Amino acid sequence: MIRTRFAPSPNGPLHLGHAYAAVVAHDLARAAGGEFLVRIEDIDGTRSRPGLAAAFLADLAWLGLRWDGVVAHQSDRLDSYARAAGRLRDMGLLYPCTCTRAEVLAADPAMGPEGPVYPGTCRGRRDAPAGAAWRLDVAAALARTGPLTWIDAVAGPQSARPERLGDVVLVRKDAPASYHLAVTLDDAAQDITLVTRGADLFAATHIHRLLQALLDLPVPRWHHHGLLVEADGRKLAKRRGSPALADLRQVDATADGLALANSLREGQIPAGLSLAATLDGDP
Ligand code: GLU
Ligand code: ZN
Repeated sequence: MIRTRFAPSPNGPLHLGHAYAAVVAHDLARAAGGEFLVRIEDIDGTRSRPGLAAAFLADLAWLGLRWDGVVAHQSDRLDSYARAAGRLRDMGLLYPCTCTRAEVLAADPAMGPEGPVYPGTCRGRRDAPAGAAWRLDVAAALARTGPLTWIDAVAGPQSARPERLGDVVLVRKDAPASYHLAVTLDDAAQDITLVTRGADLFAATHIHRLLQALLDLPVPRWHHHGLLVEADGRKLAKRRGSPALADLRQVDATADGLALANSLREGQIPAGLSLAATLDGDP
């Protein structure tokens, strides 16, 4: 049984890019007689806005997308994140880091697929300072797991290369888990078999695959889809004229969400936008 998910973060309203992502995940599940789940990624306390989650569900319903089961919230799962972090810490794979962004940049770090790669300054630290972030020692983790592979339905088989992202933060100093840890645990907890999301998160999957091996989690398949972007290739942004779905409805009460979803499914890209297959093709 195929289970996909749509996992928006409530730090801003859904826009056309989200609508596209939701339609892709929904349709992949439905075409296979499977299930489509929704998860609200609301552990980013500083940026998450309450009330937006309810608006997300209204937007999905407007698009004609029905989801299965209960909507999951990351804020309900903090214990499970803390337990997994504890396990990794007991395995000796996490170390505390108190470096500021400025300190990291001053070390002239290599550039990775997600920006500067942490140069490992604090690797080997054994103390537990208050207010530290905790990073994964990727080399030590890989020594433990050996080589790993994963499969993207669009890009094909991949060799996991988590070292390209470096020693990522798994426990933030202001939150019990980073995106990487939370999303990996959540997809396992929701029995997701096909992780469906934008190609901007392709590189992150190398880390997620490593975490699955370390934490004995099932290994799903992935489907990284193209991204709706502004015609100039930049991210959708309200200030560049990309409306929120809620705005579309407000401007025109007869705006038809189902028609919008159908045109996205047929590959009709709204005027002024384009679909970027920004797959991370870097060897
Ligand atoms: N919450 C992430 C976002 O809104 C998506 C996470 C994922 O699909 O893995 O960009
Ligand atoms: Zn550090």
